[in-house]
Amino acid sequence: MDVASLSLEALSRFVTEELGERAFRAPQLYRWLHQRGATSFDEMTDLSKALREKLRARAEIIPLVKDLEQRSIDGTIKYRWKTRDGRFIESVYMPAEDRRTLCVSTQVGCAMACSFCMTGTMGLKRNLTASEIVAQVHAVNREVRKNEGHETLRPLSNLVFMGMGEPLHNFENLKTALAILQSQDGPNFSHRHITVSTVGLVPMIERFGKETDVKLAISLNASTDEQRSKTMPVNRKWNIAALLDACRTFPLRQGRRITFEYVLIKGFNDADEDAHRLIELLKGIPVKVNLIPYNENPGLGFHTTGEERAEEFRAILADGHVAAYIRRNRGRDIAGACGQLANRGETQAGAETQT
Ligand code: SAH
Repeated sequence: MDVASLSLEALSRFVTEELGERAFRAPQLYRWLHQRGATSFDEMTDLSKALREKLRARAEIIPLVKDLEQRSIDGTIKYRWKTRDGRFIESVYMPAEDRRTLCVSTQVGCAMACSFCMTGTMGLKRNLTASEIVAQVHAVNREVRKNEGHETLRPLSNLVFMGMGEPLHNFENLKTALAILQSQDGPNFSHRHITVSTVGLVPMIERFGKETDVKLAISLNASTDEQRSKTMPVNRKWNIAALLDACRTFPLRQGRRITFEYVLIKGFNDADEDAHRLIELLKGIPVKVNLIPYNENPGLGFHTTGEERAEEFRAILADGHVAAYIRRNRGRDIAGACGQLANRGETQAGAETQT
């Protein structure tokens, strides 16, 4: 049993029904796994030897092994992990003055095939398990404690599900991972400090709103269906109108807004008309727009909008009462920025994204 993939309830059932132990052992084990991020049962010194032996025989903690660490000049660190079946995934650590954010992956590769995104060129290899999603957080907490000398168990303050994969395409495991990450007996992240980004899987947005309480971000990236369908195949199934309908009915907590990500691609979606159309599209939805200057990927044929143009674009939105922010690009020099995550051996086109 992959015990670190179990919610506390499921772990309780396993501990009582499968191991024949008393119920209070479950939270004890869970805290070892998810508060301390234990990687072996041997560490769990307040569990009896007999129980630890039983666990060794009937359960396992499946590790993510650090395979590569790349440091950007801006302080961003990209970690590449090797899964037990020999796949590679990446997480990106972004320290800032007021927060320490981890960008988490949810799949090996991605099925959404957005043509501007490096991960999209890989295709989907498989879903990550809940424990593999959570293990990225535990592992980076460990790295940060070591590198920055923290006493606290959980130096990370914020999580964004914007790494490899489409989170809502692996919803069950995402949901379990969120329950673990938000648990008081686990890392205890607040819902206010977790954001999940989606390409726009409309039926799943509704479920996400009903079954979780964390923040939603939508990758819009275009102002017309024609544009969006060209680069984001998902739009042929659920177009902009369907996507925005789902946003209008999304159950928002008090004071919360939906974040729209808009990747600025030179000569493609960065004209004045695009900004004006966006203003019209987003009317009536509490939104914040994050403008992401495109991070160039060798071979994909898209180019970045310059800083000046990005600022003009932002100003048009602001004039139309749409709060827009130009996102600082972090980790570009280590191919650790948005849309650049892909792995040697996992992609046909992207071997040169690794250095
Ligand atoms: N699949 C989810 C989670 C990934 S988030 C989603 O699409 O939302 C990654 C973000 O980076 C998305 O907003 C995506 O549109 C954006 N992105 C992809 N390629 C990019 C690139 N080359 N430069 C900048 N942003 C990019």
